[in-house]
Amino acid sequence: MERFVDLHIHTTASDGTVSPAEAAAMARDLGLAAIAITDHDTVAGVPEALAAGERLGVRVIPGVELSADYMGRDVHIVGLFIDPAGAGLADALAWSRNRRQERNEKLVSAMEADGLPISMDALRAAHPGAVLGRPHIAGWLAEHGLAADTADAFRRYLNKGRPYYMPRQRMGLDRAAAAIRSAGGVAVIAHPFHYGFDPDALEGFIRAAVRAGCRALEVYYSEHTPARQAEAAALAQRYGLAASGGSDFHGDRKPSIRMGTGIGGTLRVPGGVLEGLEAARR
Ligand code: AMP
Ligand code: FE
Ligand code: FE
Ligand code: ZN
Repeated sequence: MERFVDLHIHTTASDGTVSPAEAAAMARDLGLAAIAITDHDTVAGVPEALAAGERLGVRVIPGVELSADYMGRDVHIVGLFIDPAGAGLADALAWSRNRRQERNEKLVSAMEADGLPISMDALRAAHPGAVLGRPHIAGWLAEHGLAADTADAFRRYLNKGRPYYMPRQRMGLDRAAAAIRSAGGVAVIAHPFHYGFDPDALEGFIRAAVRAGCRALEVYYSEHTPARQAEAAALAQRYGLAASGGSDFHGDRKPSIRMGTGIGGTLRVPGGVLEGLEAARR
């Protein structure tokens, strides 16, 4: 029987709602052959997931998700098979977390100045140890009656063009891919249809990412229709990229996405992608 994997998972170390150990337990219950923990800007959840995976007989692949800038857009690069102790990677992650922290403080101060019931201290207390981002702020606003849910909070307050939109400074594609590769990982272009590029711009972005050192593309993803998946597979083929894939599971923070099977239960990431990804590491 073919077994499936999920190589894009967030935990409580960033903006997921399931702990790393719980994620490994869910993967075991779902019969997944492997999962990758890919939190935003941190590898803090990896050791706990590795230990739980070993206990439960689930393969856990150390990973991370970095935000990078490409022509003014926020594009995401997933790193798989990274050494979580890699020094170059740690530097890049720390830089990114610091820029995030500056943005969070400005954003929350602006909300406080307008009388909204929120503070950095309260957010930190609600999510101990997590790398905080807009999803936590959105969740807080929803829990305090200022929005119907997280998505509504983004629409009202946080999206581009809304009163509290504040960009954070991001590293370039080159640095993101180099940081991942310096830790022995393979750099994966995440969710390629997420960025609003038209087909030509998308290929330009993929070429730039390949030049930067990316060696794989998320062919399988929660939001991919069969047509999108075929398109992504063709792009991977055209640019010599290994296929990767995952759900982008965030627990209850993105309740429509299920681990392993994505939105509507249609996602299947074949375990065979692991071979191609391992081969793409060097
Ligand atoms: P940040 O990295 O802190 O700027 O927050 C960006 C993250 O917020 C993205 O990675 C998404 O996971 C999440 N996000 C962005 N827009 C929305 C939305 N409309 N609803 C829910 N989550 C969102
Ligand atoms: Fe996220
Ligand atoms: Fe992402
Ligand atoms: Zn993600």
